[in-house]
Order: sequence, then C-alpha cells, then structure tokens
Amino acid sequence: MNEQKQRIFDKIDKNADAILARSRLLFDTPELGYREFETGRLIRGWLDGWGVPYETVSYTGLMVTLGSGEPVVAVAADMDGLPRKADGGRIHSCGHSLQTSAALALIEALKDEPLNGTVKVLFTPAEEMIDLDYRQDLIWQGLVKYPSGKQDMIARGVFDGVDCVLSCHASGEPDCRFDVGSTLKGFVILRAVYRGLGAHAGAAPFAGKNALHAALLAQTAIAFLKDRFDPADGVNVQPVIAETAGTVNIVPDHAIVETYVRARTEKALFEAADLIENCLKKCGEAMDLDTEVTRRPGFLPLSQSHEINALVKENMLLLCCEPDILEDLVSGASGDVGDLGKLLPTVQFGFTGVSGRFHGDDFAVTDEENACLCPPKILAGTVLDLFEAPVSGRADFARRKAEYLSDWLGE
Ligand SMILES: [Zn+2]
Ligand SMILES: [Zn+2]
Repeated sequence: MNEQKQRIFDKIDKNADAILARSRLLFDTPELGYREFETGRLIRGWLDGWGVPYETVSYTGLMVTLGSGEPVVAVAADMDGLPRKADGGRIHSCGHSLQTSAALALIEALKDEPLNGTVKVLFTPAEEMIDLDYRQDLIWQGLVKYPSGKQDMIARGVFDGVDCVLSCHASGEPDCRFDVGSTLKGFVILRAVYRGLGAHAGAAPFAGKNALHAALLAQTAIAFLKDRFDPADGVNVQPVIAETAGTVNIVPDHAIVETYVRARTEKALFEAADLIENCLKKCGEAMDLDTEVTRRPGFLPLSQSHEINALVKENMLLLCCEPDILEDLVSGASGDVGDLGKLLPTVQFGFTGVSGRFHGDDFAVTDEENACLCPPKILAGTVLDLFEAPVSGRADFARRKAEYLSDWLGE
C-alpha cells in the first residue's frame, strides 16, 4: 500500500468513534426522498465544523468538491429512508444512512490531503421511487425536475465534466464481507386507467360498463404473457389493482392497474414493457371501455465498469481475503445508479454488516466495522488509484446525455 493510502486508512481508523457516532445519528434520522431536511442540516453542520464548503443541489442534495484538476471522480451517496410499516414512521431500511456516513468519513479523511485530481462527493436524495405525489408536486413547483435525485442531478449538469462514478450500498448477502460487480435490474412504470359506466348491479347491469372486468382481464392476460419471457432476462411483472370503484350493488365505473416491469437488460426491459403496455390497452378496448395507459421511466439496469471494479477489488483485498468477496452477483433490485451507469463508467460495491429484511421493519446495522469503517476506505483507495490511472467516460458525454434525457426521461 502506498504511503498516502496508508495515511488515509489510518485517519479513518483514528476517526472511528466520530464516524460511528455520526452513522448512528444518521440511522436514527430517517426521512423520505426530497424530505431529507434534518439529514441535510446534520451534514452541513459537520461540513461547517471542518470548514469544508458545499453547494446545495437537487433540492435536499449537497455537493462537496475536494482537490482540483483532472481527472474528476464523483462519489454518490444516497440519503433517503423508507416508511416503517409498524407505526407509519420512518426507517433507514435500505441502509442509505451508511452511504451518507461513508461519504462524510471520506471527506473527513481527504480534506487536508494533496490530491492529484478532483473528487466530487454527492449526497444524492430521493433514491427510493416512492411518495410520488409529493415529488410530482415538487416538479410542478419547479423545485426538482425528476422524481429521482440522481436523474435530477444528471439533468442539472452535476455530472458534466465527470470522468467516472463510485458508489456503495449495504448488502444482505450471507458469508461475505463485500460484493463487487453486481447487476441491478431496470424498470418502467405502467399505469392503466379504465373508465366505464356505473349502473344498478342487480336491476340494470346492462346499462353499465364494468371497468373492474378489464382490470381482471389484464391481470389474467399478463399472467399468460409471462410464458413469453426468457428466464435469463429476469423479467418481473407484478400488476396490482391500485384502485377500483363501486359497491356490491353498483357496477364499478373505474379501475386502475399499476405495475413495474423489471428486466436485466434494456432490450429485454423495453420489449417486455411494450408487450405489457399493449396488453393493458387491448384488455380495456376488448371490454369497450375508455382506456388510458401511461408509461413512465423508472431506473435503467446497472452494468458496472469492470475496469474500475478491478481497482475496487484490490482495495477490498487490503481489508479482507479473497473468499470474503462475492463477485458478479445477479440482483433483482433496482437503483437510480443504473442511470449513471448508462452515461459514465460506474461502480456500486456492496458491504455487509446489516441484519433483517431490506425495506423491512427489522433492518439493523450489526457489524459497524464492516458497514461504517471499511466503505470509506475502499472509496478513498479507489479514488487515489483512479487519480493515478484514470477511467473516463467523458468522450461524447453531451450527446449521450441529450439522448438519455429525450429517449429515456422524455424531456
Ligand atoms: Zn431500497
Ligand atoms: Zn437502497
């Protein structure tokens, strides 16, 4: 290990008590996306204490720039929590507080170091695609452009001039300490609104048009369509009847079916989404209903940079042994980091040290050393390595970004 890397790792060990205290406080301050006001206040407080300047970006997000010149390495850290089912409260059940904590530990360790490049540390809000009415409100008010923090940052030009992106995420994989090279599925959101006609269900059902029948027909048709998907593509469709009307004696005059369509590759994703969208539409038409199907982007599938992951793994091996690292895991989850992977060489490594169910009420941090102290070391080590041997996706970025904004986000 070179001298600077050793010094940075030592700093992180020396700061361990403060890192763990911050991490616990962040874990106990869960807020939903674009509502991370208290989390932001805490982060700004620590940055102010260190005399590190920052900019506010994407409503509740923050950006810290350290070093200068090229290359420019971005480190993205999620901030948002999730609803807690038991009491309607909030909980950090995806471990995003650990990412915020790692980013802070990284800044604390690098802030006084000579750096052969620029590191942009981004506290990215609103990763979980939930609470969408609130986010739509923010979009209407012009406060954000997109429901996901990273999509919003891309649109705002935060990644213009960036060479590559590093990130990490808590992992629930057993019998390992880290994972490297995992895939994430992409998804699109489909919503079908069927409008019929209410009528007396006993005396004159023939005078109505039952919208629920189209929703049920669509559910059945989608179940049959699943035969069409190659298991290798990992297509996943789980339609729900999000809303319907009527009482037992009134013909339901409207029904709404919503589903995510998930898949491992863009090709499989868009082919499956086309089929399901068509199915939702035709089932409404078959029942002679006024039918409206809308399609919105979720996140793109993540394919990681093998080149950067080779560096990430070398840095992991400074902290653990080969069998502690799980490679090329195929995950069913999705994340807005997938959108970054479309535009720039991007990695998201995993770290264990948590227990319970992801997005569940029993999620907890159980190994603070692995979950809080190792990720900032791996990030810092990889940043230093990238300063020596840059990996860049800058070429043609402007054109690819314009295409991404128009073709995917529909700008
Ligand atoms: Zn999550
Ligand atoms: Zn997450």
